[in-house]
Amino acid sequence: MSDPPAYEVAVVGGGPAGLTTALYTTRLGHRTVVFEKEGGRHAAVAHVHNLLGVSESVSGADLASHATDQLTHYGGDFYPDAVESVTRLDGTGEDEDGDGTTGPRFRLEAVHATVDAERVVFATGFRDRSPDVTDLERFTGRGLHYCLHCDAYSLGDGSVFVLGHGEHAARVAMTMLNFTADVDLLLDGREPEWSDETDRQLAAHPVDRIDETVVSAYADGAGEDRTASDGSPRLGGLAFADGTERDYLGGFAMYGSAYNADLAEGLGCELQDDGAIAVDERRETSVGGVYAVGDVTHGQNQTTIAIGDGAYAGIAIHKDLRPFPKPVDELDADGPGDADGSSERDSRVDADLDAEPELDVPGAAADLRARMRRVRDREPQPGLREPSPGWGRD
Ligand SMILES: Cc1cc2nc3c(=O)[nH]c(=O)nc-3n(C[C@H](O)[C@H](O)[C@H](O)COP(=O)(O)OP(=O)(O)OC[C@H]3O[C@@H](n4cnc5c(N)ncnc54)[C@H](O)[C@@H]3O)c2cc1C
Repeated sequence: MSDPPAYEVAVVGGGPAGLTTALYTTRLGHRTVVFEKEGGRHAAVAHVHNLLGVSESVSGADLASHATDQLTHYGGDFYPDAVESVTRLDGTGEDEDGDGTTGPRFRLEAVHATVDAERVVFATGFRDRSPDVTDLERFTGRGLHYCLHCDAYSLGDGSVFVLGHGEHAARVAMTMLNFTADVDLLLDGREPEWSDETDRQLAAHPVDRIDETVVSAYADGAGEDRTASDGSPRLGGLAFADGTERDYLGGFAMYGSAYNADLAEGLGCELQDDGAIAVDERRETSVGGVYAVGDVTHGQNQTTIAIGDGAYAGIAIHKDLRPFPKPVDELDADGPGDADGSSERDSRVDADLDAEPELDVPGAAADLRARMRRVRDREPQPGLREPSPGWGRD
């Protein structure tokens, strides 16, 4: 059986964090693949807020679709496939062929494809725990929200709920008073789990605490004005077990999250107490050659921060994988060099470039350098300057 395709970098997760890492490593000359199974938090974003220069008529899915085009434009590979296992390969991980790269250290098996890679990046995000209220989830992004930094602004001066019974729910309810005077904290029939100090703080704030069980959500009946730009209805309010109803402009569900960290944990990566993957400032995990970026690593769950993480990791991986610049004595040890410091090996690579590149040999330096030359001669990648389906909706 032939060996699986070999990549320098394999990214698990095609959200903002994973796609940014892959864009960096691809444009820094590393043969890169992204695996993406459908879903993720970016896919739930109806309007991207706080992203400099990007219109709020762009959704998270629009953004990812443009980013995928960007990636493939520069020669990165994108597999719409779910990774099921990541294992370490036996081997030295040494630069055996002297081309400045080490051999594959990891094998990724997805539903339809298997690849080997020298570096693995987990950009797998997390799942918000959704409330157990009939019909509420269908209003995600249209009245049901999970991110105060993203959506508090759009609920300003409205009637707002916070669903939850933990510390975080209490804090979000009090914080929402910065945006509106009308905040209900809905315990949904549960006992509060916040501290005594938080209880005292809460009692001193003008937040209405409602203990009643929430049974269902209903759509807004106010007509087109309150319909989302894609025609879907927005949330109108919530019905309670005692038969009452309350109209809300919207609110937040605060039941915590479940990190998609199983694959990383299986490889031996350390996790934080809350289940997020622990990383250093270069976004490398406790396992050498394995990186993690975006929501799966921390509590600052924002598109912009996921993008920044991706950039950090992409640059760190490049520095890790490429040998230049080298100390002069190491260059001498590589063999006779020219006056400009280039070695015999460099001349061999340059000679390879004149030949037709073998694109079916992934990871070859000549292949990547030839690809860069070709992309340079093309039209620039259009990115968000091109209209996307639905562009221009209000
Ligand atoms: C409703 C909502 C609105 C939001 N609004 C905003 C906003 O306006 N502005 C803002 O800055 N942030 C917003 N956020 C937060 C933002 O969406 C996240 O911070 C961002 O998407 C994180 O990016 P990520 O790449 O780390 O994770 P994700 O976007 O969650 O991407 C992770 C990806 O990994 C994939 N994946 C997981 N496991 C596997 C596997 N085994 N194989 C292959 N693929 C896998 C998933 O399918 C997913 O696509 C919002 C979040 C929500 C839920």
